[in-house]
Amino acid sequence: MTSRSAKRKKRNHEARIAKYKAFTDKLVEEQRLRYVESVRADLTRAEIVNQRCLQFVKALVAEFPDELTAQAGFFCTSPFHLDDPVPGEEHWWCKTKSGVIFDPTFEQFCSSGYYVEYRRDYHHVYRGKCMACGVENYDVADAPHKSTCSEECAQFIEDEYNRACSN
Ligand SMILES: [Zn+2]
Repeated sequence: MTSRSAKRKKRNHEARIAKYKAFTDKLVEEQRLRYVESVRADLTRAEIVNQRCLQFVKALVAEFPDELTAQAGFFCTSPFHLDDPVPGEEHWWCKTKSGVIFDPTFEQFCSSGYYVEYRRDYHHVYRGKCMACGVENYDVADAPHKSTCSEECAQFIEDEYNRACSN
């Protein structure tokens, strides 16, 4: 590749990213208007985009359907957790055709981090609370449903049922 075409490619890429940023800015301001007037001005961008990753990603993909796709995964803040079944907070971001990440809601995170793409056969997702002790269950998405977290808790529930029946 000649350096001139490399430069042009870089410029095109930068122009596309600037376009995604401008559209994201518009989404942020639209979102700001949904709050009552008295708090609007004080809201930071981090507060506005917090917990809205999927909403923003969907809007961007709808606006640029030939350029961006939605990617599910985790935002991981430590290199030591990259290979964990739950490497960090569940998150959504956009990916360009060449695989470059554009994350419209990264301001919600207080530190920099790693984007770990979701793998259905490996990563754990929230699977509901244990009926007995209330602890939150995490498992692969396709694992059989479990209503309790352990043998002990399953036994506890069974004893409860038996007691209820014998009364
Ligand atoms: Zn339990």
